[in-house]
Amino acid sequence: MLVPTLFIAVLGLLVGSFAAVLAYRIPIGESPWTGRSHCDSCGETVAAYDNIPLVSWLLLRGKCRHCGTPIPARYPLTELVVAAGFAGSYLAFEDDGWAWVALGCVFIAMLATITLTDLEDRIIPNVVLGPAAIIGIALVAAADTGELPGHLIAAAIAGGFLLVVTFLYPRGMGMGDVKLAAVMGIYLGRAVAPALLIGFAAGALFGIGLIARHGSSARKMKVPFGPFLALGAVIALFWGDDMVDWYLDSFFD
Ligand SMILES: [Zn+2]
Repeated sequence: MLVPTLFIAVLGLLVGSFAAVLAYRIPIGESPWTGRSHCDSCGETVAAYDNIPLVSWLLLRGKCRHCGTPIPARYPLTELVVAAGFAGSYLAFEDDGWAWVALGCVFIAMLATITLTDLEDRIIPNVVLGPAAIIGIALVAAADTGELPGHLIAAAIAGGFLLVVTFLYPRGMGMGDVKLAAVMGIYLGRAVAPALLIGFAAGALFGIGLIARHGSSARKMKVPFGPFLALGAVIALFWGDDMVDWYLDSFFD
């Protein structure tokens, strides 16, 4: 158990590192497949030994080797979170089969990527959501074909719900959030319901906090909603089905 968990956690570090590269390059139109990473400030190419996930950031104490410009902590944090998500998916879904484990891992990697792009550039790119949707459908089909219709219905309902909210409250959300909710439905099935609930609750709490701190000027601040949806999605990936069962047992028995 320990060795495969560690192996998959290391894989998660590498994928988390790639997610950060994707999130950085997609909005500026650079290919993630070609060219080495370089420092934003001095333009020096990042050497392979300075590009080891997590380790290099710690050894360099979070600064570029050449010019000393700080490297944002969100990069190693992303690597850590994805690694934890990979290990968690393995431990939680291993008994159900490899396709469920893969589904959890791909979902975590996608959520990490769109969280970064939404925080940095206020976009949730189609080039991430599209492939994620296709891979999600394939993996659900591989895991349990009988569950696919339910997951597709969940995707339609979640996307439709967000679409209505976007029409009612156009300043708060965009089409990226609508498409993200639909993709979450593909991966989570009925557990997308608690995911959206948690996402909206977290977003509302954050908004109340902003207003408490900054008063009426908080209304003009643009806060991306994707990261809150992603937070709800991660929680629902691991505990969403239990939440739905608890709800159904409590109120419909
Ligand atoms: Zn530099």
